[in-house]
This record gives sequence, C-alpha cells and structure tokens, in this order.
Amino acid sequence: AGTGHDAPIVFFSEDMNQKATERFRLEGELRQAIAHGQLELFHQPKVSLRNGRIVGAEALLRWNHPRHGLLTPGHFIPLAEDTSLILELGEWVLAEACRQIMLWRSTGLDMPPLAINLSARQFDRHLPKRIERLLDSFRISPQHLKLEITESLMVRNPDEVIHIMNELAAMGLGIALDDFGTGYSSLAYLKRFPITTLKIDRSFVIGVPHQPNDCAIAQAIVTMGKQLRQEIVAEGVENREQMHYLRQLGCDQLQGYLFSQPLPASQYERLVRDDVRL
Ligand code: C2E
Ligand code: CA
Ligand code: CA
Ligand code: CA
Repeated sequence: AGTGHDAPIVFFSEDMNQKATERFRLEGELRQAIAHGQLELFHQPKVSLRNGRIVGAEALLRWNHPRHGLLTPGHFIPLAEDTSLILELGEWVLAEACRQIMLWRSTGLDMPPLAINLSARQFDRHLPKRIERLLDSFRISPQHLKLEITESLMVRNPDEVIHIMNELAAMGLGIALDDFGTGYSSLAYLKRFPITTLKIDRSFVIGVPHQPNDCAIAQAIVTMGKQLRQEIVAEGVENREQMHYLRQLGCDQLQGYLFSQPLPASQYERLVRDDVRL
C-alpha cells in the first residue's frame, strides 16, 4: 500500500466463511495495533491560495501492519466503525495529535493548526470535556487543533449535535465540514451549525474545470460558504488546471497530491521549518 491511495482490500477472500475469519483476525490485530505502537499519523499540508504557504495540515491515520505494510484507513476504518474499536482509534488519534502539537511547540516551531478526522460515533456529549482535558494536559491552546466532521453527523440528531458543536466552538476549536456536497444535509441546517470551514469533496474537484456539473457545484459551495463567512478548502487537487480554476472561484486553501502526499511528521515538519512555498 502507498501513502495515499486506497488499494484494493487484500484480506478478504470470496469465501464467506474465510471472510468472516479474516475480519475477526483483523479486528484482533487492530486492537493490538494500538498497544504495539503500529499506528501513525501522516500529515497532508493545506496550502493558502494567497501566497502558497502551508497554513495547516490534515492528520491522516496509517497502520504499519507487520505483514501487510503501510495501510490506509480504507482498509480498517470501516471495520472499526462496525465495532467499538472506532472509539479507541478515535481517542488514540486525538491524544496523538495533541502530543504531536505539543512536541512541535516545545521545539519552538510555530506550526499551523492540525486538523483531525472525527467519526460520527465519537461525537457524544462528553467529547468537549475529553478534548478540554487533553488540551490541558498537553498544555496546548485550542487554536492549534481543528476538527473535521461529516454531514452524516448533522442529520442524525441535529439539536444534540448543535449543542456539542457550540461547546467545541466556544472552546475556540475550528470545525470543518468534510466531504461537503456528498451528504444529505439540508442547506438550511448549515447556518445553525458553528462551522468555520467547508471542504469541497474530491469527487467535485476531479471534474473541474471540464465537467460543467462539477463546476456548478464547486461554484455554489464557494458562493454559499462566502456568504456564511466560512473558509473554503478544496481537497484532492491533483493538477494545475484544477488549481487555477479553484483560485479563480475564490477558494481559500487547497489540499492534494499536486502539493504534497500525506507525509510522516518529520517530513511535514521540515516543509514548514524551511517555509517551503508549494
Ligand atoms: P478524507 O478525510 O476525505 O481525507 C482525504 C483522503 O484523500 C485521504 O485518504 C488522502 O490521502 C486522500 N487524498 C489527498 N489528496 C489527494 C489527491 O490529490 N488525490 C487523491 N486521489 N486522494 C487524495 P486516506 O488517508 O486514505 O483517508 C481516507 C479517509 O479515511 C479519510 O477521508 C477519512 O474519512 C478517513 N480517515 C483518515 N484518518 C482518519 C482518522 O484519524 N479518523 C477517522 N475517523 N477517519 C479517518
Ligand atoms: Ca478529512
Ligand atoms: Ca475529505
Ligand atoms: Ca473525501
């Protein structure tokens, strides 16, 4: 497996019985992975369209599997989501992101904010307190951490979710709506949530500037986000044509292989340290 692409799932055979066994084994291995330090956060830079500087990063989970090599989340997050393992993974990611931020700060590096992905199942009423405790124990301020959530979360139980999100926002955490445009949330909901950032999903970015429908959707998202004073990030940007189009639309930040793959922490850190313009 590479650093970015979702390679085909290699563990599952056609045989249903064997499939169940493999699944069971993978689940056990994943449980061990946390204890044995096989998980790692990679970091993909977010680049400002104003000056080409790195203004943030997204933390993406990787599993250094002893036999299968480096696995991307497509291989194990869906499995984890089916069990309570996603909660343990989620806690690990939160703590590890905070630890990384603390490490960077302790070396005097002024690193831009780090965003982590939250599963809908992690989003309960205790989340703000858990995050607050982590921020306190690592002595980092909330401006250094951002949360990426998806629309599926917002439709489930909007009133409760709004309440939790308001608490997180009041703490000073930025909240990004991930994969925007692919879910089912009503646009009217959007203004009730304290969302600071909209991320245009890669499935629309792929089609710009040649597919009129994708262009129309990207344009609508940017227009609406601007009206709601949200920051707009486009994900999955792979070529300069897309970059030029998205810049002309008024996107604030871009993220994608055109600039960088997700990188191990040390490599990402070097890019920021050297103030590389992507
Ligand atoms: P996502 O949040 O939409 O993350 C973006 C995905 O697109 C990442 O895949 C990234 O490597 C990939 N990507 C970035 N730039 C490009 C590009 O230019 N072209 C293409 N083709 N792909 C690009 P990755 O790392 O495999 O992660 C897949 C998904 O797994 C993420 O999608 C996110 O939903 C989930 N995920 C990753 N880390 C975590 C985590 O810590 N917790 C949870 N709950 N989910 C996570
Ligand atoms: Ca994300
Ligand atoms: Ca995304
Ligand atoms: Ca996506």
